[in-house]
Amino acid sequence: MQPTIMHTDNTQYYLDLEEKYGAHNYHPLPVVLQKGQGVFLWDVDNKRYYDYLSGYSAVNQGHCHPAIIAALIEQAQQLTLTSRAFHSALLSEFTQFITKYFGYDKVLPMNTGVEAVETAIKLCRRWGYDVKGIPANKAKILVCGNNFHGRTSTVISFSTDPSSYDRFGPYMPGFEVIPYNDLSALATALQDKNVAGLLIEPIQGEAGVVIPDEGFLTAAKQYCEDAHVLFMADEIQTGLSRTGKLLACDHENVHPDILIIGKALSGGTLPASAVLADDEIMLNIKPGEHGSTYGGNPLACKVSMVALTVLKEEKMAENAHEMGELFRQQLQALQSPHIKTIRGKGLLNAIVIDHPNPQAAWDLCLTMKDNGLLAKPTHGDKIRLSPPLTINREQILESVNIIGKSLETL
Ligand code: PLP
Repeated sequence: MQPTIMHTDNTQYYLDLEEKYGAHNYHPLPVVLQKGQGVFLWDVDNKRYYDYLSGYSAVNQGHCHPAIIAALIEQAQQLTLTSRAFHSALLSEFTQFITKYFGYDKVLPMNTGVEAVETAIKLCRRWGYDVKGIPANKAKILVCGNNFHGRTSTVISFSTDPSSYDRFGPYMPGFEVIPYNDLSALATALQDKNVAGLLIEPIQGEAGVVIPDEGFLTAAKQYCEDAHVLFMADEIQTGLSRTGKLLACDHENVHPDILIIGKALSGGTLPASAVLADDEIMLNIKPGEHGSTYGGNPLACKVSMVALTVLKEEKMAENAHEMGELFRQQLQALQSPHIKTIRGKGLLNAIVIDHPNPQAAWDLCLTMKDNGLLAKPTHGDKIRLSPPLTINREQILESVNIIGKSLETL
């Protein structure tokens, strides 16, 4: 059947179609989008919105960034997929480009974020056996409470969120959950000689933008080093200039042993993720032992190089830092009795809603939608506020105005 694009003023028409034919594994806001440019989205009735989710931080460079889209189109007409059975010129160039960009010996490209996390887990275990000398099948990886690393059956095996975890067992063994931002718990867990790695989000995005104490990451990295354990940073959401530095770990000058990135690596155009590490870790995986049909495809390689170039050339980290400061300061100035907490780094921010109605965060998002700004609650009372990093001062002020006006209706 031919897909039909209908231009109708009936949002309900599309909501009904998806409700009837799509799996119910998401609970989206009732808005149907059809166009994006920079910090804005438009719905099927041509109403314009500020995008305060940015595809869960996949669209850091702004919707349909002209240079990224131009590269996508040009490369799509040239060569899109070779598989890894053959070499491609673009994969070669990409490996050099991205390893120099982040300062690692090697890269292993994948597609979605969770695939990159899975790759890091496999790399870490393999290093644990081949380099650290952990007995067969005894390798353990430490993870943190309230983590979010994706949705595969291995990764949800160490989730502490019942909606990710419950009734999806049996679960993958070999993970130990320790509290986030707790150095003494980490020190205790590291006494086990079979620990191969610590997998950690430098800021917990999905949990509601939970920022660890200053110095925590530096100390955690040192503890890992002392225990001969790999420090693996999942920067899929926090990376690529979102928090005001290229990586969230850069705020503490921490260089992870294994770096995991995704989302904005392709500027929101296609799934592209990557794992970076030095030879001592990466070269333990040999030909045939790991891979993916689409991983490292020429189209993704080209788009990713442009997406990363744009971040630096357009100084998006610097803008995220400045606009983030302004945003939090302006939110504070609203002095809303319904905001319990404002927290964030750069343009990865969240507010915690204070209201007797447990649905208040959802209701607020509906009102903000009506007023022209899209955001989504996470874990009930928290709303993540993370616009594209191209946002300017005037747009921040207008957004805060919309948020303030919407808060007044609660
Ligand atoms: N890790 C983190 C920190 C994330 O925020 C996400 C997605 O939100 C993932 C992993 C999973 O990425 P993907 O949805 O591309 O598989």
